[in-house]
Amino acid sequence: MEAKNFIEDIINEELSSGVVSEVHTRFPPEPNGYLHIGHAKSLCLNFGTAKKYNGKCNLFFDDTNPSKEKTEFVEAIKADIEWLGFKWHEIHYASDFFDDIFALAVKLIKEGKAYVCDLSAEQIRETRGTLTEPGKESPYRNRSVEENLALFEDMKNGKFADGEKVLRAKIDMASPNINMRDPVIYRVLHATHHRTGDKWCIYPMYDYAHPICDSMQGVTHSLCTLEFEDHRPLYNWVVENTGVSHKPRQIEFARLNITNTVMSKRYLKKLVDENIVSGWDDPRMPTLTGLRARGIPAQALKNFCEAVGVAKANSEIESGYLEHFVREHLNTHAERAMAVVNPIKVVIENYEGEENLEFDMKPQDENGPKRSITFSKEIYISAEDFSDNPPPKYFRLKPDGMVRLKNAYIIKCERVEYADNGAIDKLICSYIPESKSGSDTSGIKVKGTIQWVNANDSIDVSIKKYDYLLNDAEYAGQDFNERFNYDSVKEFSGKAEKYLGEVSDGESFQLLRIGYYKKGSADGKTVLHEITSLKDTYKPAK
Ligand code: ATP
Ligand code: MG
Repeated sequence: MEAKNFIEDIINEELSSGVVSEVHTRFPPEPNGYLHIGHAKSLCLNFGTAKKYNGKCNLFFDDTNPSKEKTEFVEAIKADIEWLGFKWHEIHYASDFFDDIFALAVKLIKEGKAYVCDLSAEQIRETRGTLTEPGKESPYRNRSVEENLALFEDMKNGKFADGEKVLRAKIDMASPNINMRDPVIYRVLHATHHRTGDKWCIYPMYDYAHPICDSMQGVTHSLCTLEFEDHRPLYNWVVENTGVSHKPRQIEFARLNITNTVMSKRYLKKLVDENIVSGWDDPRMPTLTGLRARGIPAQALKNFCEAVGVAKANSEIESGYLEHFVREHLNTHAERAMAVVNPIKVVIENYEGEENLEFDMKPQDENGPKRSITFSKEIYISAEDFSDNPPPKYFRLKPDGMVRLKNAYIIKCERVEYADNGAIDKLICSYIPESKSGSDTSGIKVKGTIQWVNANDSIDVSIKKYDYLLNDAEYAGQDFNERFNYDSVKEFSGKAEKYLGEVSDGESFQLLRIGYYKKGSADGKTVLHEITSLKDTYKPAK
């Protein structure tokens, strides 16, 4: 099988040398928040790699930290994965393995490879040493096996307060890798776990529990982000020294980072807590639930992750790159419809009655569906499509100028009527009867075509445009707190074809000349939410 990244190179080698006979991955979220677009990359990688090799991918909840985890997050994570269309082989929770993890800790103690330590978290930090200096051995390091067993049992039975005692792996306080300097593998924590309740008051640490859980699930390739590279020796130490029979392998890959996009749970939470957004599912949020609310097609997100690929070095991807895939997908799949922003009334003096015109719902398909739209004497156009003081080369409507109405006629602006406050009240126009789209015999060439809606066959809508939540960085490393964009929603009044009021909420459209929008509603009124603009600003680096 041809490898498309370094992980597949590794797998191909292992398969051909017989080190592994199948591929089994897992996606390992901690249920302490909502998944974001960075997780989508890990999801695509874990599920994609398993699929490519006809293997399996589990959903594994890394729930070793009860104080921050909740069932609400477990359910949200499952819904997000289903939205992306991935099917897990099995679901497991670290907490399902707590008995095994505990038994293996007892085994380590019996073999003199773990000890109960009374040093406080701060003392452990102080004696850990630095990159250039070895750490100091704990005075409790040489407790007897019997004493360690008894103390560990007491830890389990709730005899100690939080932080009073920990279990540490006995590895090497002089190791050049600080993670190997007798890391803590169990801590006392009197907290109710969302699944095991109050059964436990000691919880295993991630670095110790994770390799065991991988092994117990039969995971062959434990894919994680680069910050765990320095933890790999500890991962391997746990696999070797607990003697688990199945031996998984950890491989690290680069995180996905995107410009103008907050990806850390801490800051995402801040946006929610400070009401800068309406919640985790606000359409501006880079959470999967937010992207879904925004109308980002799951397939576009997957195409993006695929195109970004898998690398060994961290980098930052331009936010425009995702939008490029969203646009590409919607351009193919979304129906067209018409709406106008900040409407101006146009009265066509020489038109009487009403007629039906044919509107191409999917001009991108050769034999795409059509529907009928109505045209009459009074229509609306967008304010930005008229100027009474036009700059040179202004090809939209202007006094004495002509423009084509999409799918309809050419009109000419005869005069402008102003309200008392000086604002434009309406445009008085005439139309060219021979200029009907599809059967134009007028011989008149106009440079501009604009969209419109029929005044008595349209609805009032609110049009919401979204900007990034983060302003551009002014200097490298600028704190997110200084970059929040407090002005990232703009709301406009508009008019839309009545059709947009009738379709289901959640449908996506290309609003001609405006952008890609998702239909929604609020307070009984139709709201059109921007998914992305029409213009592709992304220029792929060649
Ligand atoms: P955060 O830092 O946003 O809280 P996390 O790493 O703590 O994220 P987990 O729930 O532990 O979140 O992550 C589940 C999996 O998703 C892990 O394998 C993690 O490495 C991966 N992951 C998280 N963020 C990214 C990202 N930006 N790019 C790629 N993978 C990611
Ligand atoms: Mg994490």
